[in-house]
Amino acid sequence: MHLNPYGDYAVRLAASLANDWPDDRAGIVARTRAFGMTMDFPTAPDDHPRTGQVVEDWLAVVDADDPRRRATILNAQMAAVTAYPRLTDHDGEGWHLHYRDDGQALPEVLAAVISVGTALHLTTRGMHRLRRCAAGDSPGDPCSAVVVDVTRNGRQRYCSVRCANRAAVRRHRARTRARG
Ligand SMILES: [Zn+2]
Ligand SMILES: [Zn+2]
Repeated sequence: MHLNPYGDYAVRLAASLANDWPDDRAGIVARTRAFGMTMDFPTAPDDHPRTGQVVEDWLAVVDADDPRRRATILNAQMAAVTAYPRLTDHDGEGWHLHYRDDGQALPEVLAAVISVGTALHLTTRGMHRLRRCAAGDSPGDPCSAVVVDVTRNGRQRYCSVRCANRAAVRRHRARTRARG
């Protein structure tokens, strides 16, 4: 799997898993394929729940909106799950870097890929470019989707047009109420 200079694919894969959690292991693997990962992993019976825990841990990074706090959590995760970087060439991908040992199980691979990818994304694009959908900031709004901001201006706050519109309607109503 590639860790491109911006870490985009890995952080977007993590958000996809968080926002739409697969029902089983095959669903997780299919998602890694959809985001460009090519490697086969040894199968363990608890891959599905353990990968769920990896995503759960990653959400602590998403929810830490102070940059220093965010960095501290992410540094601890990378310290726990990554190894020294090494050059590798497998499955016809061409030479690229892995930040983990060979022969690891699916949850361990994803923990390494997601933590390093997120670190690359935040340091190249900006520490604030990861958040929950701003629609969910309003009391009673059900959206808690993760937003990975890869926009040019770095101001994406909503997961979807639908959520942005819902929030705009709420702001309009609040203004109308305020005017009486
Ligand atoms: Zn690889
Ligand atoms: Zn949303």
